[in-house]
Amino acid sequence: MEINNTKNGSGKSLDGSADGELIKVRAIISCPNGDYKKKFTNQFLRKEIEMMIVSFKVFDWLTCNKCGELLKLDLEFNI
Ligand SMILES: [Zn+2]
Repeated sequence: MEINNTKNGSGKSLDGSADGELIKVRAIISCPNGDYKKKFTNQFLRKEIEMMIVSFKVFDWLTCNKCGELLKLDLEFNI
């Protein structure tokens, strides 16, 4: 007997095997001068991962309110 993911049981062919898999992402935004730090956690489906990366690109141009330094963005994935 085979155990299968039965959502969309027929008709749909997907590339890759685990599109429904959840990936947990932690984003840490910090100022190199140490006066600002913020953490976000979110989770995404594997198939949404590219969309997620695009949305994090928004942080590329953020600067610190206090000292004007460009903020640093670190991503941690828990797969
Ligand atoms: Zn700063």
